[in-house]
Amino acid sequence: MRTVNYDLDEFRAAQEDEFALEERKAEAIDRLRRPSFRDFTRMEPVTDKQTMLIERLLEELKEINVEVYDIAHDWYRAEIAAGRMNKDRASEVVTRLKKHCGYKEEGWARRADFVRPVSTPVEPFEDIPDGYYALRDPDGHVRFFRVSTYRGKRKVQSQASDTLFPINFTSGHTILRQIRETGMRDSAFLYGREIGRCCRCGHTLTDEDSRAAGIGPYCASKTW
Ligand SMILES: [Zn+2]
Repeated sequence: MRTVNYDLDEFRAAQEDEFALEERKAEAIDRLRRPSFRDFTRMEPVTDKQTMLIERLLEELKEINVEVYDIAHDWYRAEIAAGRMNKDRASEVVTRLKKHCGYKEEGWARRADFVRPVSTPVEPFEDIPDGYYALRDPDGHVRFFRVSTYRGKRKVQSQASDTLFPINFTSGHTILRQIRETGMRDSAFLYGREIGRCCRCGHTLTDEDSRAAGIGPYCASKTW
């Protein structure tokens, strides 16, 4: 004979089962919605139209805000290189870039409140020639850099052993300013002396005087 209590327990158990089932369903749906799973299951390649749009928006962004452009550009290239760019992701990139360029969510009309920032001329650091430089931190740690010019823009790379690593626009400018403050020659000669390579051309220095100076005789006669 069933008691009221038994019925109540049964009812509770049934309700708990139902609740657990709902929870499992919700979890499964959540998993499907997660980007990693979605990318894996329906990895549609980027369309040519999307690539063209992204390139166009990046060009626009470069004119509007070169610092944001730098970050966006590096990130986009890295995503492509890592094979993580697909149709969904590209669509998100387009949306984000459009926002940065001041477009409305839909279409190609500019937001009414969008104010194109006045572009400040990029400091060319003309007083700092292309070459190799080193900076000594207050704690005595020395960092090594290569400064070059690419399509009229100054490029700073960080050197670790024989590998050069890219440095973003803002950090690059900070380093160029530090080189200027320390003294261009001092920074260059520090590089040459610490590494044993000419601070202008990067050739290994063997001559006693050249090693003491941090620059080879040819470069010393040509430039400084
Ligand atoms: Zn040299």
